[in-house]
Amino acid sequence: MSDHTDIVMPDDAGEHASGLADILHRIPHQWGRWIRVRKGWYPLIIELDQALAAIDPHYEVHQAKEKFGELRFYYAPSDCATNPQAMSDLVTAAEQRSTQICEVCGATGPDVHLNSKDRFYIQTLCMTCAARRDQTASSVDGEPEERKDGEVD
Ligand SMILES: [Zn+2]
Repeated sequence: MSDHTDIVMPDDAGEHASGLADILHRIPHQWGRWIRVRKGWYPLIIELDQALAAIDPHYEVHQAKEKFGELRFYYAPSDCATNPQAMSDLVTAAEQRSTQICEVCGATGPDVHLNSKDRFYIQTLCMTCAARRDQTASSVDGEPEERKDGEVD
């Protein structure tokens, strides 16, 4: 099986494509090699991946996704990981930072916070992106656009 046929590169990867590919290639084939965060968090997860790889070059990613407005980054150290606690600390720090970065545009600052449209659809957004989301959502029946493809929790 080729290592390149089954990764799911986001359409908006742009300049982050190679960094995202590094993450996607760490996911075991049978897990589904996609990430489910939006563009504003790509730099965050790429930076996290590089920091983890510096500690443990062969670690695995299991899932990188948004849940309840926060990053969830599931991974597994390799057998030769020398400092799993440091890896765990990096992931926790990145998950916490995600609550201060707009998931859509990457903005940071005092106007970035959790925005809930309803209890099933919570995102970390800046005020501009939150207003845009709510405008868009009201024109399409309020149906969340990014809840699909049978992910398991
Ligand atoms: Zn934004």
